[in-house]
Amino acid sequence: MYHPLGTLDYITKAALRKLQWEKFSKTLEHVYHNVAWYRNQMLEKGVQPADIRGLEDMYKLPFTVKTDLRDTYPTGLFAVKQSEIVRLHASSGTTGKPIVCAYTQEDIEIWQEVVVRALLAFGLHSGDILQNSYGYGLFTGGLGLHYGAEALGLTVIPVSGGNSERQIMFLRDFGVTAISCTPSYFIHLLDIAQQMKVDFKELPLKIGVFGAEPWTEGMRQVIQSGSGLKAYDIYGLTEISGPGVGAECVHQNGTHIFEDHFYPEIVDSKTLEPVPDGQEGELVFTTLDKRGMPLIRYRTRDITRLYEDECPCGRTIRRMEKISHRSDDMFIIRGVNVFPGQIESALLAVEGSLPHYQIILTRDHGLDNVEVQVEIDPNLIGDTIRELEQLQSSIHKKIETTIGIRVKVTLMEPNRIPRSEGKAKRVIDKRTI
Ligand code: ADP
Ligand code: ZN
Repeated sequence: MYHPLGTLDYITKAALRKLQWEKFSKTLEHVYHNVAWYRNQMLEKGVQPADIRGLEDMYKLPFTVKTDLRDTYPTGLFAVKQSEIVRLHASSGTTGKPIVCAYTQEDIEIWQEVVVRALLAFGLHSGDILQNSYGYGLFTGGLGLHYGAEALGLTVIPVSGGNSERQIMFLRDFGVTAISCTPSYFIHLLDIAQQMKVDFKELPLKIGVFGAEPWTEGMRQVIQSGSGLKAYDIYGLTEISGPGVGAECVHQNGTHIFEDHFYPEIVDSKTLEPVPDGQEGELVFTTLDKRGMPLIRYRTRDITRLYEDECPCGRTIRRMEKISHRSDDMFIIRGVNVFPGQIESALLAVEGSLPHYQIILTRDHGLDNVEVQVEIDPNLIGDTIRELEQLQSSIHKKIETTIGIRVKVTLMEPNRIPRSEGKAKRVIDKRTI
């Protein structure tokens, strides 16, 4: 039913900008007339839809932030009658009220279309069997991937998260060719498969659809060399619809954004001024054709850059650097900004440490301390204390050169760090103010 050449992935830049503007001007009118909250925001800023004469005027519009979604909970940002809403999803966030997204039938179709385009970009097509191990329910991962995969004509096994032994059994017994889950959960499945004496390299499994959490290139290498599959990035967030806001292509050199639906901007994290393509900052999205709950200039808190060059795959839609950190996850230690992804890269560069780790923050007499707990390769368990000390010291040095501060490194036996079926919890902040 779908073919990549029939989609807008390859549209000319000029036609794309024209399309984006046509869609955006309609969305702006739609929210101005149907969402009191947006109208008030614009009135407060002294800007009206008529003042926005092109995409280049977008910067005049106010941002939408996560707390706005909480403050307008439950239905304050809905832009259509309830009878037009066909589905709701929500992300738990951290504390307090959930962040909700409402979809009309058209919104669901757009979401399905972008997931199809993502799966096509990974090289999947009818005949492939996808084991969807993202959680089903309010979380967008499960149902989002599911409907896109079905629309493309794949066979979908909706296992959801958890019950890892059964996951391995299905992967093996049904000749599954692709799996979708968080990269951290896949690493866990790899361990379980090893215990069950199942070698992923001997299975037809060839493609991993990984997202929902930041993951580094180091993690990609661990996954690919351990399983023999190609690990692709899929990006998305509940607020904008769910997985499929962007996806890598076979070149694995950045995540293409389906910008005919979701218009990206990068803004300086401090000044909030737009920065040109190529420069790092916070990713901001405007939904171009969503009806149920359109968002204008939504600050994702994800840090990345848009690439200026074209991808060898021929897609003209822009790529962003694969997201390895979000500003929410950043912690400040002795005045230094640290992202868990930096620690992940350092750990994975040292042979003998496994991609299972946790970062514990404590405060002692006003001084912040970081402890990095990392599991070690089971083959090293019999090593002498001296050898283990050497490993600890290599990790210690690597982290220090990466982030510029000294941390405590604790080597853990395999399986001591808690596993997650969904998003991994990397940082435990025990500091009391
Ligand atoms: P929550 O905010 O509770 O995590 P979501 O499930 O909507 O809610 O998650 C969206 C966020 O997950 C994104 O803003 C981003 O930080 C992260 N994310 C999703 N996909 C990826 C990806 N492929 N790479 C890095 N981070 C991702
Ligand atoms: Zn590409």
